[in-house]
Amino acid sequence: MFLVAAGGGMIEPVTATLQFLGAAGTVTGSMHLVTVGDRRILLDCGLFQGWKELRARNWDRRLADPRDIHAVLLSHAHIDHSGYLPLLARQGFRGPIYCTAGTADLLDVVLPDAAHLQEEEAERANRKGYSQHKPALPLYTVEDAQAALRLMERCSYDREFSVASGVTALMRPAGHILGSATVELQLDGVRLVYSGDLGRYDRPILPDPEPVPAADVLLLESTYGDRAHASGAEADLIRIVRDAADHGGTILVPAFAVDRTQELLWMLRRLEAAARVPTLPVYIDSPMAIEVTDIYRRHPEEVDAEMASALASGDRPLTPGNLHIARTEQESRAINAVRGPAIIISSSGMATGGRILYHLAQRLPDSRTTVLFVGFQAAGTRGRALEEGAAELTMFGQTVAVRAHVERIDALSAHADAGEILRWLGGFTRPPRVTYLVHGEPQQAAALAGAIRARLGWAVEVAADGAVVPLA
Ligand SMILES: [Zn+2]
Repeated sequence: MFLVAAGGGMIEPVTATLQFLGAAGTVTGSMHLVTVGDRRILLDCGLFQGWKELRARNWDRRLADPRDIHAVLLSHAHIDHSGYLPLLARQGFRGPIYCTAGTADLLDVVLPDAAHLQEEEAERANRKGYSQHKPALPLYTVEDAQAALRLMERCSYDREFSVASGVTALMRPAGHILGSATVELQLDGVRLVYSGDLGRYDRPILPDPEPVPAADVLLLESTYGDRAHASGAEADLIRIVRDAADHGGTILVPAFAVDRTQELLWMLRRLEAAARVPTLPVYIDSPMAIEVTDIYRRHPEEVDAEMASALASGDRPLTPGNLHIARTEQESRAINAVRGPAIIISSSGMATGGRILYHLAQRLPDSRTTVLFVGFQAAGTRGRALEEGAAELTMFGQTVAVRAHVERIDALSAHADAGEILRWLGGFTRPPRVTYLVHGEPQQAAALAGAIRARLGWAVEVAADGAVVPLA
């Protein structure tokens, strides 16, 4: 509670609360509602993804009255943090949505794409008649996504700005993907810090997560709260590329368009320049990955010093020596004729759809093919099946034999592991009054809570879905 002077000098209590509306007990659907008196502010506005039961929650209305939300503050552009915005706009929210310039540019690509996929899915359900709803409707449309994009307000790192009366915000680099930020809110004297998704230290392209000096209440992600990432991504990549070169094989990389693709391009370019790998033809077969790579090039102010200076000097840090780009379907199909050695980077990252499926269908039966995973493969996806050694896969209604070799590089994760989260917490000069853990499966969140109590002695709670907690 705060005491504020009302009209006639009387002191009236103002309540400040925080409610967890997603990413509590799970890693998707990030959305947290901050209420200070009559001001309502959202931290992130994400879609639930993954299992069917979780995705079904996207159809539930999550906010009592979206018209009364004053502003949204976005930590970064991943759909599980931003993908509910088109629905919010459709429900009457009129902004502003504050985010960094990098995030705004990425959203220009990923929100219309998400809407397009929703529309396609509804169209397919109607054509094949498999929906219980007649007609099946998309969760939202490209028009809804455009309405949300018109509400974006770009802000810079490390510069405080006003969000609503008595509320200011400050965003700092989080090192997770381009434009990612931690968010500090000052609410009538209470300091609330939200980690968003924390990235890693000493990674290519992105700055390290910037330390935050203090918080009264901390909202902290816990995705890999029980894990230590393996190191040695570079050595693994060198071995895999040399092996393909020696045997005339093709390396197929199902890669997320945002960040994984750019990091891979950066590493290949550097290793080639140092003559540690041969320069193989590299094909990027994903219109979104191509656009996102251009966006990474356009934001020297949001990348690390090495990438910024490479961009400034005209060196092309995301362009390996023999790079080919496939925007059109025709260019994509032409890759079918490519014989190894070569590297083909395509999406989707978990082989759930997209152009990678055509390449897998063609090349999985060839024992000279290497499928290289550089990101998390969720249960139930073709990516997970391949990781687990499936002998065949079903694609396009056909059975495809798997004779390809499967590799994964764990060290290429965009998320901090437990040690890196604790390292970031070490930047606080005093313990927060309370820390709430979000964005983690129960096991990961419990492990991180235990580590924070044991190492730092802080008060930690795992956020419960839907719970409302006081901020003062
Ligand atoms: Zn993320």
